[in-house]
Amino acid sequence: MNKIMNLVLLGPPGAGKGTQAKRLIEQYPLVHLSSGDMLRAERAAGSELGKKVTGFMDSGSLVPDELVTAVVISRIKHELSEGKKGVLLDGFPRTLSQAKDLDTAFAQIGAKIDAVIDLQLDTDLIVDRMSGRRSCSKCGRVYHMTANPPKDGVNCDDCNEPLLQRPDDKEDVVRKRLTVYVEQTAPLEAYYRQTGVLKVVDASLEIDEVTAKIQAELETIK
Ligand SMILES: [Zn+2]
Repeated sequence: MNKIMNLVLLGPPGAGKGTQAKRLIEQYPLVHLSSGDMLRAERAAGSELGKKVTGFMDSGSLVPDELVTAVVISRIKHELSEGKKGVLLDGFPRTLSQAKDLDTAFAQIGAKIDAVIDLQLDTDLIVDRMSGRRSCSKCGRVYHMTANPPKDGVNCDDCNEPLLQRPDDKEDVVRKRLTVYVEQTAPLEAYYRQTGVLKVVDASLEIDEVTAKIQAELETIK
């Protein structure tokens, strides 16, 4: 498949977005652009935009929406000017106004978003996936206390060191992040459903099945 497409990947934490993004860029001519990476790259490049970004990042404050949008759009235009690959956007847009600005920017360069892949997963499943996660304090090997537990139920199989839970993975933290995600994303889903590009994919399936579903959706794009 060498079709040039521009895609947006949506999905809550724990839905396997990273894994699917990796597979998509292996299978299609796509450049993976995550908003965090783009901000860091702009900063490292020392451009005018980059200097503004640095100011916010170094003071520990959130980079304002308009600035994130400006960075992302400048990067997309740069990538698409080559014409060899499409973009896979990850972590952007996050708000409705960003989505609208993005559409305007694509239109200006005669391009568009071909599909928004929306990985959907039930909240309780996400909480279970994430709150069950533990990793070895020594080698970093990752376990899941129900799906993939260590043999003795406590320590790493390889080095016999105790397993730890990341603070991010604690149930109340996961639930809070999911609430924020749903609040931010609901208007985006509605917008992209209306423009006809939203492709909902059930992320509760096995990883390979999710990939196959995404591919099937992408095959329908002309
Ligand atoms: Zn270990």
